[in-house]
Amino acid sequence: MTQTILSEAPVASFQDLPISRELYEAVHSLGWSTPTPVQSLTLPALLKGEDAVGVDRTGSGKTGAFAIPLIERVAPERRVVQALVLVPTRELATQVTSDVADLARFKPLRVATICGGMPMEPQLRALAGGAQVVVGTPGRVLDHLQRGSLRLDSVSYLVLDEADRMLDMGFAPDVRRILSRTPESRQTVLFSATMPPAVRGIASQHMRSPQWLAVEPEVRTVDTVEQVYYHVADRDKTRGLRCLLDREQNPLAVVFRRTQYGTIKLHRQLERDGYSVGMLHGGMTQGQRTRALEAFKRGRIRVLVATNVAARGLDIPDVSHVINYDVPEDAETYVHRVGRTARAGKSGVAVTLVGESDIESFQGVRRLLPVEIREERLPIYG
Ligand code: AMP
Repeated sequence: MTQTILSEAPVASFQDLPISRELYEAVHSLGWSTPTPVQSLTLPALLKGEDAVGVDRTGSGKTGAFAIPLIERVAPERRVVQALVLVPTRELATQVTSDVADLARFKPLRVATICGGMPMEPQLRALAGGAQVVVGTPGRVLDHLQRGSLRLDSVSYLVLDEADRMLDMGFAPDVRRILSRTPESRQTVLFSATMPPAVRGIASQHMRSPQWLAVEPEVRTVDTVEQVYYHVADRDKTRGLRCLLDREQNPLAVVFRRTQYGTIKLHRQLERDGYSVGMLHGGMTQGQRTRALEAFKRGRIRVLVATNVAARGLDIPDVSHVINYDVPEDAETYVHRVGRTARAGKSGVAVTLVGESDIESFQGVRRLLPVEIREERLPIYG
């Protein structure tokens, strides 16, 4: 199941890595004492300039794994784009930008975030002002390439983050076009939680004999998450949810719904019931989404009702509960939703509410998961 081919031994400490003093200090100041498994597996190869494909669950520290070599690579005195990170969503782009800035605190670099749904003007300014790193979504990056506001002929380090998601969203043609505008001599890094054929195709066509570095089997869930499900009548779901939220002490919970309409409706109900609640779905403006996420990250709202927009990649450190109000469509979505809790080794609980109409789809999801999901009884049923 795993495909770990190693030419280097994984390292046990950041001190064993050939990184500059500035980076070592930045890592230290972030409180990272040892590399995470994906970092210790990929950093030696990446720091040597090799291409690599990293397969790992989300929340494993992969941003650090590709950002550390990126920061080492970029020459601060050269005011051209030297590194490009492609990600599937605006939220992830914002997060990766801030992670890069954190790690580059002692070696300031000019980073431009280039995503759709955001005004062009600041992006044009950032690019014209000598951006050295671009973090962006494929559609808008291509847009700038076509306008001539972005040049990629000095890129020597390219990252495809959450490649499976990016290709799922129909970005494959854009990604290929962007890749064709960068020098072939570049180093390419690809991260993906799963390895469907489309991702393998990109890797084999656009990378130079990459090392395949898989920390975990392809479909798995985080092992520090306690996973339970409850049978509940469809009409009792909201009551069941309230009961689950009420019995916890100050939970920080993401509640997943399948549709925007369902998200809005549940949000309204919980708000009316007096919960500290926000929502996140694809129909909101970028500003609304950023504000909701910020409020949740800071703990100002304790419950975030969301569609799958929030299921992947987002890093909110202290989420205590992931609640599947609607059963996820498939096992992969389940794994990504559950990956929102128990980040960086913390523990968490994942709850699925299984209504009469969900039983069949839930059985389908369960069969594909290598973990046991325990059944419990909802207190509302005595
Ligand atoms: P990521 O998978 O990149 O989203 O990272 C998940 C979380 O792990 C983030 O909050 C990181 O700040 C944190 N993290 C990354 N690397 C380390 C490390 N070596 N030690 C401790 N925490 C880390």
